[in-house]
Amino acid sequence: MTANSKISCAVVGAGGRMGRRICELIAQSERFYLAGAVERSDHPQLGKAIREVLSTVPSEEKLVGSLDEISTLFDVIIDFTFAPVSMETLRFAGRSKKPAVIGSTGFSPEQVEEIKALARNFPCVCAPNMSTGVNTLFKLVREVAQILGEDFDAEVLEVHHHNKKDAPSGTALKIAQILADAYGRDLSQVGVYERRGIIGERKKDEIGIQTLRAGDIVGEHTVLFCGQGERLELIHRAHSRDTFVHGALRAARWVIGRPNGLYDMQDVLGLK
Ligand code: NAD
Repeated sequence: MTANSKISCAVVGAGGRMGRRICELIAQSERFYLAGAVERSDHPQLGKAIREVLSTVPSEEKLVGSLDEISTLFDVIIDFTFAPVSMETLRFAGRSKKPAVIGSTGFSPEQVEEIKALARNFPCVCAPNMSTGVNTLFKLVREVAQILGEDFDAEVLEVHHHNKKDAPSGTALKIAQILADAYGRDLSQVGVYERRGIIGERKKDEIGIQTLRAGDIVGEHTVLFCGQGERLELIHRAHSRDTFVHGALRAARWVIGRPNGLYDMQDVLGLK
């Protein structure tokens, strides 16, 4: 904490859609202080004051190319970038014992194992979706799957903006994993990510995970439970990235002082 007790944050990926908004809300907040902002090492504006790079963030701190270059002591790292970049952030957190909030998606199973091992050295919240509504959806999906049981087919549809790089979304994959766990199935065996051509009838234990990309859609997830003569749909629509940003800042407050280990937003929101 700084002298005036604000939580001091280092933001990785500060020039991105999420990183920029996180910096803006930190700068507007009475609870947080922006200790530093990190961008890729070939970013053309490294070394400039953040206010010169992000006109809506009135900070004199410099934009830097690595967490090692942030001179001010800080309390927590917030990283919304890409999986390989976040792995570097997590290794930095492992060395420095700094709490971290990781919002990036698209981690491979091997990277997830490494994250679990690294997080033995520092408290870490890593979650593919930091919105309160989606985390409530996760809880509801588990409950609905258990109530409706095997007689209902379960499918997941996700829709995002055309700039999104990974597919399916980390949130859709998490929903599919929750469904597989609820039904006692192995997602690597029953997950179906594409349907095309003469594919035959749907197998009873399939879990379809389908992707659409269009325009500027922030993020939509539909979970369809379909039985004989009826269906139940759970739908979450994000209207603005601010829901994820508020979630990330809530996680940043929560993770400081926690025992070392890997947490998700269900832990932060007390939904477990
Ligand atoms: P973006 O492409 O707009 O931003 C990524 C930023 O990272 C860019 O500014 C890029 O220059 C920067 N970057 C690249 N390499 C870097 C490096 N080595 N060091 C520092 N910065 C580097 O992407 P976005 O829309 O902001 O999304 C970022 C990530 O967050 C994605 O993985 C996305 O899926 C995820 N996301 C998660 C949530 C959530 O709630 N967890 C919500 C929205 C997006």
